Amino acid sequence: LSVWSAVPSGPPDPILGVTEAFKADKDPRKINLGVGAYRDGNGKPYVLSSVKKSEERILTSHPEKEYLPITGLGSFTQNAAKLAYGEDSAPLKAGAVAVTQSISGTGALRIGGAFLARHYPNAKSIYLPTPSWGNHTPIFRDSGLEVRQYRYFDKETVGLDFAGMVADLKAAPENAIVLLHACAHNPTGIDPTVEQWKELSDLIQEKKLFPFFDMAYQGFASGSTSRDAFALRHFVSQGHQVALAQSFAKNMGLYGERCGAFSLTTADAEEKARVDSQLKIVIRPMYSNPPMHGALIANGILSDPALYSEWEGEVKGMADRIISMREKLYTTLNDLNTPGEWGHIKSQIGMFSFTGLTKPQTQALAEKAHVYMTADGRISMAGLNGNNIDYFSESVSKAVK
Ligand code: PMP
Repeated sequence: LSVWSAVPSGPPDPILGVTEAFKADKDPRKINLGVGAYRDGNGKPYVLSSVKKSEERILTSHPEKEYLPITGLGSFTQNAAKLAYGEDSAPLKAGAVAVTQSISGTGALRIGGAFLARHYPNAKSIYLPTPSWGNHTPIFRDSGLEVRQYRYFDKETVGLDFAGMVADLKAAPENAIVLLHACAHNPTGIDPTVEQWKELSDLIQEKKLFPFFDMAYQGFASGSTSRDAFALRHFVSQGHQVALAQSFAKNMGLYGERCGAFSLTTADAEEKARVDSQLKIVIRPMYSNPPMHGALIANGILSDPALYSEWEGEVKGMADRIISMREKLYTTLNDLNTPGEWGHIKSQIGMFSFTGLTKPQTQALAEKAHVYMTADGRISMAGLNGNNIDYFSESVSKAVK
């Protein structure tokens, strides 16, 4: 008898399962809108020119393969924090931001979860929006936090249930942790407005909740890294202490390089040093120290004005292409007299759109039209391009008629 004979098989990953079904389909018209990775106007993966240049410099100047420190490449983490909090950020200027490199955004969330589970002085429950990125619940549960939910998405309006969100945060116990998508909410593509963020900041302060920002799409949402950082920077300017997970997967296209950062704002440099020491104690037994290559690439861009401005243009290019696909999809669906209101396709932001398509409709799209998306009707806008958007629009139109 094998040692593992009693191990039950677990459910497949809901997103990666879509890719498998797509790969098995032999129809030339097939479209994969499941995966959350950018594709160019020809449906191909895209390596940024700023990334290629930064990588070339590394290959010529940095051949050694020594270990990084536990918290990663110091110049990279400083530049990452500057990108997120902004140069004028008070805690940054005071040397009060504790920051560590992480295995992309997922690793940042996991370090944050583990740090909070060990050191957060209050009840260890974290509130997630409903719905949220599918990995949030297992990340925080496996970190040792109790996962709870607040209302976020309104099915009726395909918009933000702001009243429900406010009511649930008001009803949360004092000092609870609240996970906020800093911009480009995944999976809905729906963000609070600037006014709503300000209200949320006040409410979270009144209730003494602890905000944990997940910023996986800075720059990728609107095309501007500072506009996409508005919520985070506003909260910090209002005196909140925050936790922050950053990813360079989308905005630099560094998916497989696993490059990210986790940070906490602290009272002062002395407290920061204590927090830093404990971050190291959390990280060391997990993976000892992070991989170097992605951090060198990102740092090469963040620290060189010419590469930085090239990168800003490329992020904007990706964001703009997605925005243009939203406009085209909206217009085409209307031109085809597709039943329903599709304004949300245009108003949503970032890589994903919650179409409002039902599970049976998504199944019909896969079976009859070879169009693949997650069962909740989420599509990755980046999978659409000039060659497939008409076919996609016609297929959606047929599926809802
Ligand atoms: N948070 C959110 C909301 C995301 O959408 C993603 C990527 N799908 C991540 C975090 C983490 O991605 P990564 O680990 O690739 O940086």
